[in-house]
Amino acid sequence: MPELPEVESTVQYLKERVTGLSIEGATVLWDRTIALTSPHAFCHQLAGSQIADVFRRGKLVGLRIVGKREQYLYTHLRMSGSLDVMAKALPIAPHDRVVIFLSNGKTIRFNDTRKFGRMYLTTSPDDVVAKLGIEPLSPEFTADALRAMLSSKKGAIKPLLLNQSFIAGLGNIYVDESLWRAKIHPLTPANRVPSPKQGALHEAIRAVLSEAVSLLGTDFGDGVVDGGMYTPAVYGQNGQPCGRCGTVIRRVVVGQRGTHLCPSCQRKPRS
Ligand SMILES: [Zn+2]
Repeated sequence: MPELPEVESTVQYLKERVTGLSIEGATVLWDRTIALTSPHAFCHQLAGSQIADVFRRGKLVGLRIVGKREQYLYTHLRMSGSLDVMAKALPIAPHDRVVIFLSNGKTIRFNDTRKFGRMYLTTSPDDVVAKLGIEPLSPEFTADALRAMLSSKKGAIKPLLLNQSFIAGLGNIYVDESLWRAKIHPLTPANRVPSPKQGALHEAIRAVLSEAVSLLGTDFGDGVVDGGMYTPAVYGQNGQPCGRCGTVIRRVVVGQRGTHLCPSCQRKPRS
């Protein structure tokens, strides 16, 4: 599932290819991909507008669209969604859900095998992003900010980091990676993470995400994220030795999510 680095990679890809182009129209091939409006209204409202900018918020790809009025098109890729720019003449692929026709003879194709992805077209971004938490790569996300955010949270640290209204953009891969780097057990109550480890966690989150962004994310060979070169240290590495201490990495379940950790580096908190 695409997380912040993979979404950022999609944003950079689109930014280079579609910024400044006009939208001639759109075709919706799977109605439920379109949230907030009807597929008909979606196509109607896009036609004749222009793509002013491409950006990311959390795990959402955003397009700022100008024309008769300013609109925002957000795409949540969810499990298997991808956005590609390709020639209009190329045939529709089996899992293409939405096609947006551009003024240069190309199209943006939203392909989504599992159909969980959604596109939201709106004039008010708050309809979509109001509940999202802080951006972990923004200047506002400081060690002190994270300390303050953790201080009132009694629940386990891992589910908290996955909560998009707490920090936007983290998912299962990069939470496991960050907790391993900071040597924090995923079940540690958030407000009981010792102060030095809170600082380490802040640094780990930023370092892991920055590295993964520069490497275009993680490619699991499932065709969802092509070309990602980030190699996880613990995520999906169960049975392999920990790169720091050599202990065998284990997979456990935390909050219904498969979780990878080093039992030596990440000691379980005493209850
Ligand atoms: Zn270890």
